[in-house]
Amino acid sequence: MASAPTPIRLYNTFTHAKELLTPVRPGVVRIYSCGPTVYRYVHIGNLRTFMLPDLLCRTLEYLGYRTEQVMNITDVGHLVDDTFDRGEDKMLVSARLEKKSPEEIAAFYTEAFRLDAASVNIRPAAHYPHATHYIPQMIELIASLIEKGHAYEVGGTVYYDIASFAAYGRLSRNTTDKLLAGARGEVDPRKRHPGDFTLWKAAGEHRLQIWPSPWGPGFPGWHIECSAMSMSLLGDRIDIHTGGADNVFPHHEAEIAQSEGVTGHRVVGCWLHGEHLLLAGSRMAKSAGNFFRITELEEQGFDPLAFRYLALQARYRAKLNFSTAGLAGADRALRVLREHLADWSTDGRPVDFRSADVAGLESRFRSAIADDLDFPAAMALVAELTRSMLLPGAKASLLRAWDRVLGLDLDRPPPALALPTGAPELLAFREKARAAKDFAKSDELRDELAAIGVAVTDTPEGQRWKVHSSRDRGRA
Ligand code: AMP
Ligand code: ZN
Repeated sequence: MASAPTPIRLYNTFTHAKELLTPVRPGVVRIYSCGPTVYRYVHIGNLRTFMLPDLLCRTLEYLGYRTEQVMNITDVGHLVDDTFDRGEDKMLVSARLEKKSPEEIAAFYTEAFRLDAASVNIRPAAHYPHATHYIPQMIELIASLIEKGHAYEVGGTVYYDIASFAAYGRLSRNTTDKLLAGARGEVDPRKRHPGDFTLWKAAGEHRLQIWPSPWGPGFPGWHIECSAMSMSLLGDRIDIHTGGADNVFPHHEAEIAQSEGVTGHRVVGCWLHGEHLLLAGSRMAKSAGNFFRITELEEQGFDPLAFRYLALQARYRAKLNFSTAGLAGADRALRVLREHLADWSTDGRPVDFRSADVAGLESRFRSAIADDLDFPAAMALVAELTRSMLLPGAKASLLRAWDRVLGLDLDRPPPALALPTGAPELLAFREKARAAKDFAKSDELRDELAAIGVAVTDTPEGQRWKVHSSRDRGRA
């Protein structure tokens, strides 16, 4: 019989406390994650947010749970100014600028998102629902909200009546008064409250991405999409919902009002929010243009998993300042760790997992990840393991097990760097000098090789060499 999963505590934004996870179905954790709006490439800030459910699922599985994860693809309804339902749909803006249909834009950037996510070892979710495939479910929810007195229609647009939902503002700690004070600029005078948000928007002048509805042709609001997709795929009691810190308000606040307005009960058990990635102190943002794509970092010679290594060094609830210097450090550390693992793996002696040292480290690793995903603590244990007196084989086995959670692909051999021009000849001369026991000459050749980035060591089987990357050489 399988043993019971290890208990895990997670910080719930809804209750402002770390809570013990108690899945609706014991042993199975169902997770809904807000995914990308596919109108542009995702940046590494977005990837940090999408890495959170990946780390969560890997952790849960390591601790003995099964997981089912849904991540949506927003391909309609996310407005440029989403605060108070103004502005143009992001998909339509890109379609216009790139002279493509919204469907082409969505297909292109969805594929780009999948590739970028895969390059940082984010495992695919079980389902990737597209918002445009769930319009009937959204219409059904909106009709139910109108029937229950939570929504009203004006001229083909349907608004959520926030005054009808007593708990509105609880997740984000916004009172209705604060919401009122926060309403800036032009507000539709037909709204009962300036904070009422759009469930369905009348097509107006829109010609693209519109659907028929009981209120006339139009398109859904961004928030209703996640209520419809999450409940259609995971039912009306979901264990964990993830997103970025900026999703707390208005997106998730609205989602609670919608889902609970329809069902009459709490739908999401734990709301988990990842903090932002910053660049020079400001939030990395597609709209502000201050961002890096993971592919750009690869083009600069970094291993994309160095970004993952970097992200693991911060708590998910802490902001993380990105810099290429920080990334270079992570890239080096990752390479060294891979080299260690390769070295330790040559030890063929059997590993005793019950030995006190191994069991102690393993139990501390589990406690770290089960304590609200404390990856900085887990990475500190990786360093402790490296320095420890454990047998190399034990180190290799433990690190390989931990890498199922860390996802750093530590078994991947470091890329073999090509020998610089002239190096093969110098190595051949040195081989001859050693055979002739001309050690002065062989030392001289070793220095020459070092100067062009080739480190040579002598072993009983002959000379071995390693090529250092140009980045290392620049720093030497
Ligand atoms: P979007 O595609 O704009 O809907 O964003 C996708 C996800 O990335 C959302 O859940 C955001 O909360 C998140 N996000 C946006 N900017 C950042 C950032 N700088 N750092 C971390 N996450 C972010
Ligand atoms: Zn969402």
